[in-house]
Amino acid sequence: MSKSQQNYLDQVAQRLHLTADAQSGILFGMQGGLHMMLMRSTSNQNFVSLVFSLTHSGQEPDAAEIKAFVKSNKLIVNYSIRRSRVEFILKPRFGSFKQIDQLEQVTGEVVSLLRTGGYQSCCQNCGQTAETDACIMAGVPSLLCDSCYQQLGHNQEQIQQESAGKPENVLAGVVGALLGCLLGVGCIVLLGQLGYVAALSGIVLAVCSLKGYELLGGRLSTKGIVIACVLMLAMTYVGYRLDWAITVAKYFEASLTDSYRAIPYLIDEEILDGGVYTGELIKLYAFTLIGAIPTIISSVKNRKMAKVTYRMQSQRAVNSTPEF
Ligand SMILES: [Zn+2]
Repeated sequence: MSKSQQNYLDQVAQRLHLTADAQSGILFGMQGGLHMMLMRSTSNQNFVSLVFSLTHSGQEPDAAEIKAFVKSNKLIVNYSIRRSRVEFILKPRFGSFKQIDQLEQVTGEVVSLLRTGGYQSCCQNCGQTAETDACIMAGVPSLLCDSCYQQLGHNQEQIQQESAGKPENVLAGVVGALLGCLLGVGCIVLLGQLGYVAALSGIVLAVCSLKGYELLGGRLSTKGIVIACVLMLAMTYVGYRLDWAITVAKYFEASLTDSYRAIPYLIDEEILDGGVYTGELIKLYAFTLIGAIPTIISSVKNRKMAKVTYRMQSQRAVNSTPEF
């Protein structure tokens, strides 16, 4: 977290009487008797999200009522309701010191509406109005009662142990990655023959290769990432050369295999323009990387996040032993 972001969170926490979780930077606490979390919105990183878990005389929140309120308040951009979990996406920009006033105002308005509407805080898992804690459950910020926190934490641990114990099927993964690569090669050839720069093809090849491994291999381990990357680099080259070979075969009315083999010779003899050949290949590799890198980053991030489970606490309390 950057220093200015830390500063921003500290100021917002102070103004809204919330506590900043030392690990995630999420603000949590209570206003008007309602538990809430305030964080950078995941659906739109520019905005601030305000999250509640609510019940209305034992019922889940009334979607129509929430919607009407959101429409009437210009400082709320959007909302989402999942069972008792209600998330308001607020207009004040995340990180904007100037808009902290606005943030304080709209938070107060939301809380007062919910209170006059008869809403109470509840656990987002069981719906009981027991005391809830702000916590991270398998990477997801949640408002849970103590017994649900314990139970879901144990379930999560079990799931992880099972998936860690489940052997990764490398062979099936390789088949999956290859199938994904073939899809990409198909794209390179098809789009290449239609005369397009194969930008999209590189991305398709990279994403399908990684997803293919994950789908058939069971999970995308570091070994899987390496295998899929080697395959995608090789297959990008094969697809590219094949595209040229088809053009050559058509032109000289030769067979495809002869044309494929003849490409280095044709470049040496300056029948094909070596500069163009290499230039386009480098471009294609660049697009393969553009497809591969975000896919790998998000997969590794998800894998790490799924292991994160803890109760939010302020910096001062962070030295005590976590339960999970
Ligand atoms: Zn509960």
